Amino acid sequence: MKYLDEFSDPELAGKLLDQIRAATSRRWSIMEVCGGQTHSIIRHGVDQLLPDEIEMIHGPGCPVCVTPLEIIDKALEIASRPDVVFCSFGDMLRVPGSGKDLFRIKSEGGDVRVVYSPLDALTIAKDNPDKQVVFFGIGFETTAPANAMTVYQAKRLGIKNFSLLVSHVLVPPAIAAIMESPTCRVQAFLAAGHVCSVMGTEEYPPLCDKYGIPIVVTGFEPLDILEGIRRTVLQLESGRHELENAYPRAVRADGNAAAKAMLCDVFEVTDRSWRGIGMIPSSGWRLSAEYRDYDAEHRFAVTDIHTAESAVCRSGEVLQGLIKPHECSAFGTLCTPRNPLGATMVSSEGACAAYYLYRRLEVTHA
Ligand code: SF4
Repeated sequence: MKYLDEFSDPELAGKLLDQIRAATSRRWSIMEVCGGQTHSIIRHGVDQLLPDEIEMIHGPGCPVCVTPLEIIDKALEIASRPDVVFCSFGDMLRVPGSGKDLFRIKSEGGDVRVVYSPLDALTIAKDNPDKQVVFFGIGFETTAPANAMTVYQAKRLGIKNFSLLVSHVLVPPAIAAIMESPTCRVQAFLAAGHVCSVMGTEEYPPLCDKYGIPIVVTGFEPLDILEGIRRTVLQLESGRHELENAYPRAVRADGNAAAKAMLCDVFEVTDRSWRGIGMIPSSGWRLSAEYRDYDAEHRFAVTDIHTAESAVCRSGEVLQGLIKPHECSAFGTLCTPRNPLGATMVSSEGACAAYYLYRRLEVTHA
């Protein structure tokens, strides 16, 4: 297989579905960790093609969705300052903080710019030495290497008017937190292929052993996802709980050595709050002591932050797989992609946005 279309081949999809149906003897709940996988599942109707016994639970793998409100409010506070150019990927501009979003700050005169790479922000810093340029560095292990590289370059080039507002989160501690929850219904995970392409798979076997769960590293196209589910069901049905790599065209057990070395140099592990979930120990990265001068939180000393979550939004329950998006009373009425109340309706990887975009508007109970 060389081309993307081949990963949507209906005939091969039918064969994988036949194998999944043949293997399934009872109810199983499987969580796909990644928001990209959620979108692919809903977009292609993969969950509707599966046997009724298999439930796909959508996990907290959308980086925009899990960025804590406190960090959004800090971003708003920093971006409001007259000497600041605040740079971000576009999907963060509409994420609601306690009162405003970055679009509102821009409309009120703040210099908020959409960039396509953190290195673009570094170029802006180089070109505007009289300004403080901040890049909003959020996301999982996938986006972190580029942000680490940018801070490394800023230091190497002596660009002192650049800083990073960091809110990086890590997948394995989130899997542990989900499994430790008293309300957990998850029996197996599809792990995010792109995260593992950076970090490798070595962190996952201890989770399989500790919680007795299969974890299958899975890609993002329909056939990738069906193959991940097929392998997961085979493990569940035979009582195995192992790590399997169903995405070998992108993932090696040891990951990307150069990216990991850069991450290790620039970041250090820290406790991190996840929006809608709460604090998860050792679940994030912050800049290491050597790069602390490039930490926007440190540079701007934003401490007087009082957060206020929407009283209506149930995105925390969505992110933990406790409800489906259309079980929220605001879904599609008070809350739409044009007027989002929560981050899961804003982001292109958010579960609420996926359900709205692909018209999953009604609650159906199996
Ligand atoms: S539909 Fe909107 S209000 Fe409801 S959980 Fe999703 S983002 Fe929050």
